[in-house]
Amino acid sequence: MTERMRGAVLTALGEPPVVGALPRPVPGPGEALVRVRRVGLCATDLKISSGVFRPALGLPLVLGHEIAGEVVESRAPSVGKGARVACHPYLTCGRCPPCGGGRSNTCRELRLLGLDRQGGLAEYLAVPAGNLIPLAAATTYEAAAVTMDAVATTWHALRVRGRLGPGDRVVVVGAGGLGLNAVQVAAGLGARIAVVEPDTARRRAALEHGADHAVAPQDVGVLRGWAPDGAELVLEVSGTRAGFEAGARLLGTGGRVVCCGYCPGAEFGLESMDLVGRELTIAGSRGNTREDAVAALAAVERGDIRPRIDSVHELDQVGDAFARLMSGEARGRVVVSL
Ligand SMILES: [Zn+2]
Ligand SMILES: [Zn+2]
Repeated sequence: MTERMRGAVLTALGEPPVVGALPRPVPGPGEALVRVRRVGLCATDLKISSGVFRPALGLPLVLGHEIAGEVVESRAPSVGKGARVACHPYLTCGRCPPCGGGRSNTCRELRLLGLDRQGGLAEYLAVPAGNLIPLAAATTYEAAAVTMDAVATTWHALRVRGRLGPGDRVVVVGAGGLGLNAVQVAAGLGARIAVVEPDTARRRAALEHGADHAVAPQDVGVLRGWAPDGAELVLEVSGTRAGFEAGARLLGTGGRVVCCGYCPGAEFGLESMDLVGRELTIAGSRGNTREDAVAALAAVERGDIRPRIDSVHELDQVGDAFARLMSGEARGRVVVSL
């Protein structure tokens, strides 16, 4: 008889997942079975549950791609039973040109746990052992889970796509789950940081994490004094055209806008003479590679980055967790405990 487990299952688009019993997965060759302990929720989960992203497997679907837990069974030599691990959420082919060129985050066959394959919002997850990253003893499951996306994605955006360096001025547009971690990644690099964010409490949090300035969108003019020649880098996290335009106005000559926020149908652009005349760069930044996740986790384990946790909810309260995420009031990641 198939063993059962408890999990939060998306059964209808437009509604939060519901807790129920489902079959416990069986790890295949090269995979491990993880007893999931913490799962961070992400705006992507809302895009899936609302139907913006269509699950490859259809419904029902177990959401969740920021995952940490304990290995309880292994069919791979690289990881043993009892290991505390974070789970890198992207499955890649390893053969396509992007994978071969160091851009596995844009793999042609990229699959995300909790979208293209069952995710982490259930007691057990079967996953390729190569996706597991071991944790130091002192690392909490919630910090590790959140690092896999909310931290590693900003790491990739700022360090790989943005090439941010010490002393550079960076404007972070949007200080939600990603943006507040971006401030810490940038601070760890020795950059000077300004944040544009409408919410007062989020602005305060940005200042606590090392931003020099945090202003409301209507007050961006204040930042002209902070960066008279403009910023070297703008990180657009809000996914809105207004956010992109507010950030782009603060760019200096030769500056870059890196966008990791997005919204289907929203177009970002620069006035052509401005783009050419000042040699500006617009760059997209998608998720993160395993290498980014390993490096970001190491920074968390050194204490350089403390991932923002808004709240931790038990599995039975997963509906509350989704409501909190949807409210737009979360100051950092909303986490589910299993
Ligand atoms: Zn995510
Ligand atoms: Zn590939």
